[in-house]
Amino acid sequence: MVLVPVPAFQDNYIWLWHNGSHAVVVDPGESAGVEVYLADHGLQLDSILVTHHHGDHTGGVAQLQARTGANVFAPAECPDLPATRVVHGSQLTVLGMPCQVLHVPGHTAGHVAYVIASDDEPPILFCGDTLFSAGCGRLFEGSPADMLASLDALARLPGDTRVCCAHEYTLSNIRFALTVEPHNAELQQWQLTCEALRADQQPTLPSTLARECQINPFLRVRQPVVRLAADRWTASQPNGTQASRPDMTDVDVLAALREWKNTF
Ligand code: ZN
Ligand code: FE
Repeated sequence: MVLVPVPAFQDNYIWLWHNGSHAVVVDPGESAGVEVYLADHGLQLDSILVTHHHGDHTGGVAQLQARTGANVFAPAECPDLPATRVVHGSQLTVLGMPCQVLHVPGHTAGHVAYVIASDDEPPILFCGDTLFSAGCGRLFEGSPADMLASLDALARLPGDTRVCCAHEYTLSNIRFALTVEPHNAELQQWQLTCEALRADQQPTLPSTLARECQINPFLRVRQPVVRLAADRWTASQPNGTQASRPDMTDVDVLAALREWKNTF
């Protein structure tokens, strides 16, 4: 099985997974690059998976569907797509493999993720704009509590799960993560690895869940060093209390990190 990110727009990845003859794509915001890849490799597109309703993830669905006859799977928040609706717990079969749907609200209200399990390869997570390497999606429609619950659910997947994010945001996310955790050795190492990859125009993805649990501050809100950094940032804000809050909840920490990142 082959897993490749097809670049689109500025920094999107349209993930394409194939077995040499049949393929599935995730979040085709545009169709041209996918059509070229399919033609170059002689692939038939079986399925299109959509994680959420934003145009950079859905813009190419109709054309790809019309040209290939692929089955489209999407959450109810994409009513304009000719799709089979998926909900939390939906079980699909993709290229003969079981594919489970998780509802992961936060970035959008109806955002879903797809997890493909296989006996002989590590699982694959298509997480759209929920989880990025060293970061997470902006909270356009959900609360910090929604996002924390979604990230916690993703973090429970096996450590060797391949994390297929929909954007190449890794280096800028790492710069923020290092501000939160300057002494995190795995994070420092990941920065060197990713700088080399990007200098060579290679994607930094997929990441693995085990790595993300070591380096991603949004998956580390229970770590004392992350809590302390979030607390200090909150207290330093113009409307902050200037006093430390040892009673910060995990949701408070995530909310502070997200707000801090928005202004970083
Ligand atoms: Zn989005
Ligand atoms: Fe996006």
